Amino acid sequence: MNGNESDVLVVGGGIVGASLAYGLARLGKSVRLLDEGDVAFRAARGNFGLVWVQGKGVGAPTYVRWTLRSAAAWPALARALLEETGVDVELEQRGGLYMCLDEDELDGRRAMLTQLRDSIGADYPFEVLDHGATAKLCPEIGPDVVGATLGPLDGHTSPLRLLRALLQGLTQRGGQVASGHKVKDVAHRGGVFDVTTESGRFSAPRIVLTAGLGNRDLAPKVGLAAPVQPNRGEILVCERVQPFLRYPTLHVRQTGEGSLQIGDSKEDVGFDDRTSRIELAHIAQRAVRIFPLLASINVVRAWGALRVMTADGLPIYEASTRFPGAFVVTCHSGITLAAVHADDLSRWICGGERPPEITPFTARRFDVPTSRVH
Ligand SMILES: Cc1cc2nc3c(=O)[nH]c(=O)nc-3n(C[C@H](O)[C@H](O)[C@H](O)COP(=O)(O)OP(=O)(O)OC[C@H]3O[C@@H](n4cnc5c(N)ncnc54)[C@H](O)[C@@H]3O)c2cc1C
Repeated sequence: MNGNESDVLVVGGGIVGASLAYGLARLGKSVRLLDEGDVAFRAARGNFGLVWVQGKGVGAPTYVRWTLRSAAAWPALARALLEETGVDVELEQRGGLYMCLDEDELDGRRAMLTQLRDSIGADYPFEVLDHGATAKLCPEIGPDVVGATLGPLDGHTSPLRLLRALLQGLTQRGGQVASGHKVKDVAHRGGVFDVTTESGRFSAPRIVLTAGLGNRDLAPKVGLAAPVQPNRGEILVCERVQPFLRYPTLHVRQTGEGSLQIGDSKEDVGFDDRTSRIELAHIAQRAVRIFPLLASINVVRAWGALRVMTADGLPIYEASTRFPGAFVVTCHSGITLAAVHADDLSRWICGGERPPEITPFTARRFDVPTSRVH
C-alpha cells in the first residue's frame, strides 16, 4: 500500500462517519476518514446529545429493535472510549423523561408507547407518571406539567466529547483523519475506488459514504441513492447552574458542566441553519412552563443545525450492487445509533452478515412505481 491507499475510505467525518471509522479500525482495518471541514453543514456539532429510545420507530418495528440494541450497547462503547482514549463522553443513562403539559398529550404518549411495545412483542419498558410521580424525579417541575413518560433506557451524552473520543480512538489505531477534503469525484477501476478531493487523491477497495446531506450528491457516483433533506433544529444554551436535573428530558437537559440545553425545533426551511427569534421564543416558553426556574437563568447562546432526514425519518443502509465495496449510511439519530454503528454495522461493512434489524432500510423503498404503458 502506498501513502494514499487504505482498506476503507470513509467519506464524511460527522458522528456517523466517526462511529463507523472507529468501528472499522477496531476490526483491524486501515481506515482513512475524509471530511469537508468547517465550511460544511454538520449536524454532529449542533445536536442535542440524547441517547433516546422512547417514541422512536412508530410503524417500523425493526427500527425499534435497532434503537433498543444501540441503547443497550452504549455503556460498553462509553467504557471502551474512556479506556482507550481517556475521554469521558459523559454518558448518563438512568432514564429520560418526556414532560406533558396537558392530559391529551399524556394520553397520546401512553397510546403511542403502548403501540410501540405491541409492535415488537417484546420488552419495551416505559412508565406513565402523574404530576406527583414526576415531581419525585424532578422536583423543579412547574404546576403546568400534568405528568411525563419515563423511558428507563434513555440517556444523554456530550456530542462533542463523543466526536473527539471516536476520532482519537481511530487515530490511536492507526487511522487517518483528513479535514479540508471535500470529495468531488469517485471512480471505480479494477475493484478499487479512486477518490478525488479538493486537495488530494486516495484509493481503497471499500468506500463508505457517511457525508450527511452531502450523501445526496455522492451516492449516485457509486450506483446508490440517498434522498435526504435538511430539517432545522434550534437549541438555546443557558449559563451553568447547580445540578438540578438528574434526568434528561426531550426538551431540556443539563450537561456535565452544569449548563442547560433547551431545544429542539423541527423546521422545514431548506439549507438555512440560522436561528429565528420566533422559534427560539417558542422553545423557551415551553421550557419555562416545564421548569419555571429557567425564567431567571441567562441564555448565553443559541444555534441552528440541520438534521439529515429521509422522507420517512428512517435510516438508509445500503451496499452497491453495481459497485461492490461501496456503501451508503445515513440516519437522523446518529448519537443514539453510534453504538451499533461502531459495532454491528462496521462488521457488516467488513463483509459480515447484514444485521436483520436493518433489512428494510435501503433507498429502494423510496422508488416510485412507474405505471405500465400499454
Ligand atoms: C438540532 C439537532 C438535534 C439533534 N439531536 C439528536 C439527539 O439528541 N440524538 C441523536 O441521536 N441525534 C440527534 N440529532 C441527529 C444527529 O446529530 C445526526 O444523526 C447526525 O449528526 C448525522 O450525522 P452525520 O454524520 O450523518 O451528518 P453530519 O453530522 O452532518 O456530518 C456530515 C459530514 O460529512 C461531511 N461532508 C459532507 N459532504 C462531504 C463531501 N462531499 N466530502 C467529504 N465530506 C463531506 C461534512 O463535513 C460533515 O462533517 C440531532 C440533529 C440536530 C440538527
